[in-house]
Formats: sequence, structure tokens, C-alpha cells
Amino acid sequence: MSKRDYYEILGVNKSASDTEIKKAYRQMALKYHPDKNPGDKEAEEKFKEAAEAYEVLRDPNKRSRYDQYGHAGIGGAAGTSGFSMSMDDIFSQFGDIFGDAFGGAFGGFGGFSGSRGGRRRRVNRGSNLRVKVKLTLEEIAKGVEKKIKVNKYVHCNTCNGTGAKGGSSYSTCSTCHGTGQVTRVANTFLGQMQTSSTCPTCGGEGQIIEHKCPACTGDGIVKGEEIISIKIPAGVEEGMQLSMSGKGNAGARGGVPGDLIILIEEIEHEQFERDGFNLLHDAFISFTDAALGTSLDVPTIDGKARIKIAPGTQAGKVLRLKGKGLPSVNSYGTGDLLINLNVWTPKNLSKEEKEILEKLGKSPNFIPSPTSRDRSFFSRMKEYFTH
Ligand SMILES: [Zn+2]
Ligand SMILES: [Zn+2]
Repeated sequence: MSKRDYYEILGVNKSASDTEIKKAYRQMALKYHPDKNPGDKEAEEKFKEAAEAYEVLRDPNKRSRYDQYGHAGIGGAAGTSGFSMSMDDIFSQFGDIFGDAFGGAFGGFGGFSGSRGGRRRRVNRGSNLRVKVKLTLEEIAKGVEKKIKVNKYVHCNTCNGTGAKGGSSYSTCSTCHGTGQVTRVANTFLGQMQTSSTCPTCGGEGQIIEHKCPACTGDGIVKGEEIISIKIPAGVEEGMQLSMSGKGNAGARGGVPGDLIILIEEIEHEQFERDGFNLLHDAFISFTDAALGTSLDVPTIDGKARIKIAPGTQAGKVLRLKGKGLPSVNSYGTGDLLINLNVWTPKNLSKEEKEILEKLGKSPNFIPSPTSRDRSFFSRMKEYFTH
């Protein structure tokens, strides 16, 4: 692609002074600025072309090489068109062109807020905060609202979060001219390389506070605390994280706040083990109740349930109480309560009790004679774990 003559692009003659070149470019830049010509590809090309022409003609060295050798004089290695400018570079020229007056003019363009071409001024985002919330299974079963006190950075009330002392204001950073970025052009064997980095003077914010607020030393945030009400849905699990957007640390100098990350911890329950949405409970019945049958009160997560124990119930039988587990956090149903029946074998027997049992033990009914139904432990486990 052949390039147009730089003088022609800016509409000046070869003997034009620096001031004339600058003035010509300023007019072009304003005319073809992308914010004034949204979506207009031709204007964007003209804008870039003018920026490139100015970048060369403003520099006495480049200008004399251009005058002598044309485009080849300022191009990259091996005659490629190694010289090109990104939108970043173009905007970073602007401080030079428009000077201080440009601060106001920029507002009209809305240029600073855009993310065009990756050019972005740093916005101070507050950091995320992490808190742990311990919950009982009862709270998890129903869902709960927890009020917790969080120590965090909050807006400085003295300066209303601006970081500036009363009455004083911000000025555009003179190092980066408000762009928050500094661009360096280095000559390498590949041609000219451009690198952009965060402005060291303003830390990428593009502005500098004239007088810092004494309460927050210019950060706009101070240490404080907030009582935050956290709605925890039913069914959450140990290790789950909930996030409340904007409830983390306040952002410096009016930046957006970070998030509050809530880490769920489960308090161990005396009666229940949790397995996903199911609850497991170990119940003990006496040897005689197992033989004769009984009814038994078992705890549930919201009270009690009475279950029937059939005569001749074997130890290890599992009774399933449908829907008495925990709700799914995605509201896909509710788990079950599984009661594992243990038969309590008496330990310290009196002489008399021993005699009675010895007598009973001789009865053929006391000799184990399991059927396949009684031997169902492993198939039951399989059934349980494939659920
Ligand atoms: Zn302050
Ligand atoms: Zn700066």
C-alpha cells in the first residue's frame, strides 16, 4: 500500500514551521476524531493517517530523514511499513497537541471513558473481602438471614470518597496527560516497537490530587465496619461460596467497590451426618424391641418422626424417610433421612439375666438363620450409593 505524502495529509507545505504543523494536525484531529465520527471508517483512517504524519513531522530527526528518503526513511527494516500507530499512541500525543485546555475539551468527546483500542484509564476497584459463615444443619435446611459485622474499607466521609482536601481539586497528570499510560517507542532490529505501561506519576489514574484529604491521605477510603445482612439460601454446603457484588472493600477515590465472598462452613450436628442432600442418623433399639417390635421416635431436622419397628428386625436395617433430608440449593427436590437401625447388645448382665439368656439361647429361634432379605446389607449399600 503506497502511503500519501505526510505534508499533503496535513495540508501544509514542505517549509511549514513546527507551529504550523501542530496547528494543522490539531484541526485534523478534531475533525476526524472517532468520537465525532462514530462508525465512520474513512474518518478513522484519516484520523490515523494524520496522527502518523504528525508523529513524523513533529520530530526534527524523523522529518529530515523523511525529507531525504521519503517513507523508506522512517519505515521499519527491509522496507516494510513498520511504522504505524495504535489508537493508544494517538491519544497519548494529544496532551502535547491540546495542552491543558484539552482537559475540558475531552469531556465533550467522552474519549476517556471508552475502551477503544484497549486504551483504558485505570479505575480503582476495591478488593474483594472474604468472610466465613458457620451454619447449623437446621439453618441450612430452611435457609437463613445472617447479620454479620464486616471490617472493611469504606468511603471517607471527610472528602466524600474523592481523596481531595475540601475545596481542592484534581489536575490532569502532566506525565501522561491524563491518559494513565505512557508509551515508549524503541528502535529494535524488527523495526520500531511500541510499549505502553501504566503512568508512574499518577498510577494510571490520569489525574493527580492537588491537596490530599488528611483523613484518608488521599485514598478516599478509610478503615471502618459495616453490618451486612446476608441471605443464605437453603441447601448450601460446606465449602460453597456465595458472592455479594459491591459489598467488599470500597474502591479508592470513587472507584467501584469489590465483592463480599461468603464461605460456608457447616457446624457438626450431634444427631445427623450429612451426605449430599440426605441426612443419616444412627438409631439404637434394644435387643428385645428388635425381637418383639416397637415404635420409635427419631429426630428429624425439623422435629421428630415416629417409626414402626417390625418384630424380628435385624440390626443394620436402614429405614428411609422420604423428603426429610435437606433441600437442594437449586431447588431440585429434597433429600431423605436415612435411619440406620443398630441393635443394642446388653453389656453388663446380672447373674439372673445371664441365666435367662442362656436358657433362651438354647431355643432354635435364637440360632441365626438369615434369609436373602436379612442379608441385604451390601445390596442396600449399592442401592444407596448409586442414588
Ligand atoms: Zn478523605
Ligand atoms: Zn499520569
